[in-house]
Amino acid sequence: MKSLIIVESPTKCKTLGNFLPKDYQVVSTMGHIRDLPIKSLGIKIEKGKTFDFLPEYILLEKKKEVIKKLKQEAKKATKIFLATDADREGEAIAWHTAFLIGKEKKKNLARISFHEITKKAIEKALAEPGEINLQLVEAQQARRILDRLVGYKLSPLLWRKIRRGLSAGRVQSVTVRLIVEREKEIEKFIPEEYWEIWADLRRHVGGLKEGVPAFLAKLNKLNGKTLKIENQTQAKEIVEELQKANYEVASVEEKEISQSPVPPFTTSTLQQRAVSRLGFSSKRTMRIAQGLYEKGLITYHRTDSFNLASEAITQIRDYIQKNYGPDFLPENPHFYKTKSKVAQEAHEAIRPTDISRQATAIKSENKDEERLYQLIWQRTLACQMTAAIWDQTRINVQAASVKNIYSLLAEGKVIKFAGWLTLYEKRNEEVLPKVKAGDDLDLLKIKDEQKFTQPPARYTEATLIKALEERGIGRPSTYAPIVSTIQDRQYVEKFEGKFKPTSLGTTVNDFLVEYFPDVFDYQFTAKMEDELDDIANGQRQWKIVLNDFYQPFEKKLSAVGKVAERVAVPTEVTGEKCPKCQKGQLVIRLGRFGKFISCSRFPECDYSAPFVQKLEGVKCPDCGGEVVIKKSKKGSQFYGCSNYPKCHWASWRKPTN
Ligand SMILES: [Zn+2]
Ligand SMILES: [Zn+2]
Repeated sequence: MKSLIIVESPTKCKTLGNFLPKDYQVVSTMGHIRDLPIKSLGIKIEKGKTFDFLPEYILLEKKKEVIKKLKQEAKKATKIFLATDADREGEAIAWHTAFLIGKEKKKNLARISFHEITKKAIEKALAEPGEINLQLVEAQQARRILDRLVGYKLSPLLWRKIRRGLSAGRVQSVTVRLIVEREKEIEKFIPEEYWEIWADLRRHVGGLKEGVPAFLAKLNKLNGKTLKIENQTQAKEIVEELQKANYEVASVEEKEISQSPVPPFTTSTLQQRAVSRLGFSSKRTMRIAQGLYEKGLITYHRTDSFNLASEAITQIRDYIQKNYGPDFLPENPHFYKTKSKVAQEAHEAIRPTDISRQATAIKSENKDEERLYQLIWQRTLACQMTAAIWDQTRINVQAASVKNIYSLLAEGKVIKFAGWLTLYEKRNEEVLPKVKAGDDLDLLKIKDEQKFTQPPARYTEATLIKALEERGIGRPSTYAPIVSTIQDRQYVEKFEGKFKPTSLGTTVNDFLVEYFPDVFDYQFTAKMEDELDDIANGQRQWKIVLNDFYQPFEKKLSAVGKVAERVAVPTEVTGEKCPKCQKGQLVIRLGRFGKFISCSRFPECDYSAPFVQKLEGVKCPDCGGEVVIKKSKKGSQFYGCSNYPKCHWASWRKPTN
């Protein structure tokens, strides 16, 4: 008697093999084995009052060997367990595998699922085998078909109206829209001038001045009213007045502030944190997390749940008690409310499978795994620790001139009890000297500074994922692929870590938003996600959801095909003359491998040159040449010298001379 366990990845295979008895054999499907064809739509649409949608799945050509092996092993096995990941994608792989193995094996087939690859979790799963959850499969299928319909039906239209080879995507295009609209806000933004005035003050002690600490206070009020300084003339007048004013401490407010720990990681918060702390792209983060999960080190990494298993909480609390002491252990465990809408997917948050295993103990050859694990370990431990307590101090200073009374404010905070912050190094403490109301102050220096209001910031990968999640667009499994697809398709580019739309991205976005305002609407996209959740919950029928979307979409598609004008993608002009024909202008075009310089008279003149972006205001530290932004073979951005190959200076960091 032999049992067969089918998973989707070779690493998972190996980990499972480590703690299963000998009579269990584990094989891997190496991902999906059956999918829609690439070369055609692959969906038969039967048109009636309500349309019917029949996916025409094919066996993937490159999986031929894998499929052969799966079938052979399945024939020999007396019992088969489908142990693919516990989400819609995993459920779909299990379903396709079951289809492949065939009907005759059906009675010996069971589905097992677990959220962590540990001996205990697997034994528990094997003890309570279940069936494939068709609702989850249908939710996956509906997403696949929906995205296929939008992508494959819109692309030919974009080819005719804008440019060959373009593509659109349901969620992807809405994400581009966010970036395009942010860029338009930035372009429209008119910065407003304002001034800040700071006073460097010290308690008046008379005679010896050494050792008395100074502090900075910021001007905020004039005769009790909030003060706005709009220009230099106004700033100068105030500075002159303040120079001759008398300073004293009006009041000192001291307050204890408690800072609670943050919830454990979900997919989106892990991605955001890994971008800002480690500089990992979301794609890289997911690849590393996948490895950690498959090695049995962390729980499943595609989740939007803040839940922690009760055994895990017990273990974490024991660990805190033993290693940090009772002051760091709250009376009761912290529970964080989950937004997840699908009961069957009510996973756990991302946590180490064993909190006593520290990052240095995972002994990975891959340093990235260690670093990401460390983030997860810290966050998990922190979320069950006591709050940090800060002592906050506000010193209100009064400056009396001949004419007016000005108010200034100094703010400081120091840690009183670190609590969960003990796990993190960065504290940002601001220490203020001890003073009391009525103390006279000496003015050491006044400084004024010109400032401008700032436009909204461009999205970074972290803020983009946050924006998607807040708007209910996308799900844990989709953030990373969306973010990388919009860059691959050259709709947006990342410049110094921030997203900017390309002229192509803006053109396609404006076209789609003009002609398909509903489909590429934020709320509509969020509603579609909810409906997919409803399918997973068994509250909606998947074909109805598809029908309700597709019928109006198809009508719109043919109408737009008739009325829409062809639009051109504008080219950026460099302002230089073409060196070859001396007649054309040099323009920046977008090719398959990114930007390049070309002649405006193309195709009459075929001049072309690589595009180099110069960094304004900095010079090469070695030779004083221009600093240019380059891309490595792997696609990462770095800085180099324009005099290359004469000068070899290069750096990952932006030079700051
Ligand atoms: Zn030319
Ligand atoms: Zn140089």
